Amino acid sequence: LNVDSTVVIVGAGQAGGEAAAELRRQGFAGRVIMLGEETQPPYKRPPLSKAYLSGAATQESLYVMQPAQLDKVKIEFRGNTKVVRIDRKDKLLELADGSTQKYDKLVIATGGRARPLPLPGADASNVFVLRTIEDVQKIKALCEPGKRVTIIGGGFIGLEGAAVLVKMGLKVTLLEGLPRVLARVTVPEVSAFFERVHREAGVDLRTGAQLAGFEGTPVNAVTLADGTRIETDFVVVGIGLIPNTELADAAGLKIDNGIVVDQYARTGDPDIYAAGDCTNHPSTFLGRNVRLESVQNAMEQGRAVARNILGKNEPYQTVPWFWSDQYDLKLQTVGISGAHDQIVLRGDPATARNFAVFYLKGGKLIAADTVSRPQEFMFAKKLVAEGAVIDPAKLADESVPMKSLATPAA
Ligand code: FAD
Repeated sequence: LNVDSTVVIVGAGQAGGEAAAELRRQGFAGRVIMLGEETQPPYKRPPLSKAYLSGAATQESLYVMQPAQLDKVKIEFRGNTKVVRIDRKDKLLELADGSTQKYDKLVIATGGRARPLPLPGADASNVFVLRTIEDVQKIKALCEPGKRVTIIGGGFIGLEGAAVLVKMGLKVTLLEGLPRVLARVTVPEVSAFFERVHREAGVDLRTGAQLAGFEGTPVNAVTLADGTRIETDFVVVGIGLIPNTELADAAGLKIDNGIVVDQYARTGDPDIYAAGDCTNHPSTFLGRNVRLESVQNAMEQGRAVARNILGKNEPYQTVPWFWSDQYDLKLQTVGISGAHDQIVLRGDPATARNFAVFYLKGGKLIAADTVSRPQEFMFAKKLVAEGAVIDPAKLADESVPMKSLATPAA
């Protein structure tokens, strides 16, 4: 690449924004064009279900880079611009308005969209998903104390939304179809903890709730398979994400639960890279391919893309970590549980408001979930990255400082 080269980034989210910024930080002097379907420049989504929903954060505070900053570093951001086709032969993009854009290198950072609820009535004007600034603005317009909201889905977004809305004085019912919340990401002890704190805060949290349908237009009640009828003023659906892979798929790039990239975040086309929620990448740490939905992954992979476009040839290798804020609680996780053969509790999730769960495999620490335990999280991050073998009895013993487990002697 040289000063006459053009890098085009499709998708102005956290991954796209980071790739653009890193290209400039690395001294790339050619054109950087970022095309985004949304009107806003890249912004942080985590506050959408937290401080932005509660009103504690302004829209501008969500921006990864302010418009003036984008101008200053000559990142050409075009909002309201949907890319509809990639012409790999001519290295050209077709945009929704019929115009075209040439590229020398292309970054696909199209993220994902909220999974719609496959139920008649789910397209009603008072049924919302929670993925964009606009989604939250619509929800916020209905948030008055005493209003009844039904949240569908006991994943992170549903639970974070419940925490904020119940604090705002709304009557919150949360429906989870599985026998426990967070079932896909954690162990029963952690699920039970979050169910308890939400119920203590006043959320009517129901697990094993099988949706039957909606009543009214707009919706005024949600019905369950067992005949239960829940009157509601509006509904928020948080049932997961669909990666935006259609553009890459139509261009003949390999798709398998995301756009398949190699360890350099490159697709099968040497001029096309991809980063963020839309990608499926090989993880040395996990020993398999993985598609992650986290800020850490979006940012680090976005950065890796930029560096590799500039010829650094640096493999993207990371230990995944994630956080979720609910009430006064900060959940921080590192690694991915599931492949563990032993769990160790430090603290008691059944009674306390802070604890840690460590996941071991063959004695090796592979993951941890910590709730309001920053020390444990900090050391777990290090120990998981090292693949440390740790004595479970010491991990469980609160009188043994985490610090001592991180020494070579451990
Ligand atoms: P996105 O943020 O989805 O950005 C992709 C962009 O591409 C979008 O703006 C989209 O409109 C655009 N686009 C798609 N197709 C096209 C096209 N054809 N043409 C042009 N533009 C296109 N992660 C955490 O680690 N911690 C948290 O606490 C946390 N909380 C979250 C709370 C909420 C409510 C949500 C929604 C997400 C949260 N996440 C959290 C996840 C995190 O925000 C995502 O992992 C991250 O935003 C992914 O960034 P991305 O750039 O890959 O994708």
